[in-house]
Amino acid sequence: MTHTDTIYALASAPGSAGVAVVRLSGPDCQAVAQAMLPTLPPARQAKVFHVKHPQTQVTIDQALVLYFCAPRSFTGEDCLELHLHGSPAVLQALFSALETLPNVRLAEPGEFTRRAFENNKLDLTQAEALADLIAAETESQRQQALSNLQGTFGETIKGLRTDLVSIMARVEALVDFPDEDIPKSVEDELEDKLQNLRRSIHTLLKTAEQGIAIRDGFRIAILGEPNVGKSSLLNALANKDAAIVTAQAGTTRDIIEVHANLAGYPVILVDTAGLRETEDVIEAEGIKRARKAANTAHLKLWLDAPGQQAAPNVSRETFDLYVLNKCDLIGTISEPASENIDYDLRVSAKTGQGLDDLRKALVFHVKHRLGQTGQGGVTRERHRLALQRALEHVPRDISLRLDMPELVGEDLRQAVRALGEIIGTVDVEDILDDVFSSFCIGK
Ligand code: GDP
Repeated sequence: MTHTDTIYALASAPGSAGVAVVRLSGPDCQAVAQAMLPTLPPARQAKVFHVKHPQTQVTIDQALVLYFCAPRSFTGEDCLELHLHGSPAVLQALFSALETLPNVRLAEPGEFTRRAFENNKLDLTQAEALADLIAAETESQRQQALSNLQGTFGETIKGLRTDLVSIMARVEALVDFPDEDIPKSVEDELEDKLQNLRRSIHTLLKTAEQGIAIRDGFRIAILGEPNVGKSSLLNALANKDAAIVTAQAGTTRDIIEVHANLAGYPVILVDTAGLRETEDVIEAEGIKRARKAANTAHLKLWLDAPGQQAAPNVSRETFDLYVLNKCDLIGTISEPASENIDYDLRVSAKTGQGLDDLRKALVFHVKHRLGQTGQGGVTRERHRLALQRALEHVPRDISLRLDMPELVGEDLRQAVRALGEIIGTVDVEDILDDVFSSFCIGK
């Protein structure tokens, strides 16, 4: 796809910095250089130039300039990179100057990567991985995003798609054959191939929970009666005062989520409304949401406190960790909630006692569930749904269906389409818009 306009944007973070990188991409990069630089630098060689206003010829800044000649650039188009002094005033002056040039405009969010995608520089899984790498906050997210950016997941999907297409061609060749003339060996071969495909898709789907949790965060819900110290524990684990802590029961009426880095894994600590019977409409809504949060959490932690009434309908098996908080009060207050309960851990959110052990226990659970990181694969719900759709359309027991090869062919076509959506080989504008709109300007 050829674009007629040349786009520009700040590629580095906004604000004051030693260096700011402004990137341009499009057919007029050479014209921009002609208007604002003494000369176009040789491709891929850094040159220090005065950057001048195209009309007034007043110097805007001194910059390190790089030119990438199409198609050997990130976007596949002619690109210019200006490494300027990182001040808002320099950028403002540069942008005002660029605005005066014809066919040159500020880029939309994700437009550089979209152009790279349109010019086959990367597939859709790589474009998504690039956004994930830029957003990565933990080591496991970095490893996963890098692996997908290197294209292994996209290549796997491409391979499966190619296999499906060749099976489809074979099935379509059978359309004119009477059913009874199809040799058994052909049926067996097709069945084998389809089985392999199903197995490969299953294997990818098995990594989905892990990959999505690494990208979006492993959800840990803290549940318990009001006032047992759920908010205090969340704050202590996250090292920040995210949740309001009061001595009044029923304060957390909605869900509070805090993102934290637990030994390189991204976790989302979810503080929920205390689960108790209540007449208060708002608190009741909070409790409803707490139950929902518990259902979608990867790990459920039940919290008790000494002197607390044992919660009705709470079975130990429903929770991954059963923790007694306020252990600093044991001895000074009446007996623990259920003195016979074999708690996994006893902690005090107030004194910090037992919190290191709790962190270790959480890391153990997270590692156990997320397994080995850095392998890449399914990282988004949209990948998982497309794989499931593909699987539904890969026929089982092909021998029983070869009397209607047209229908088998149609099913296979749907499967091919579903896989194509993952890598972006089918034209699905809404998927592309959705993926690229999550980028920020300059990416
Ligand atoms: P939540 O309703 O379960 O979220 O409970 P909060 O975190 O709001 O805490 C309720 C009260 O218990 C507050 O007054 C806290 O200061 C207090 N609290 C929380 N954790 C501890 C603890 O480990 N020891 C003691 N002594 N008090 C605590």
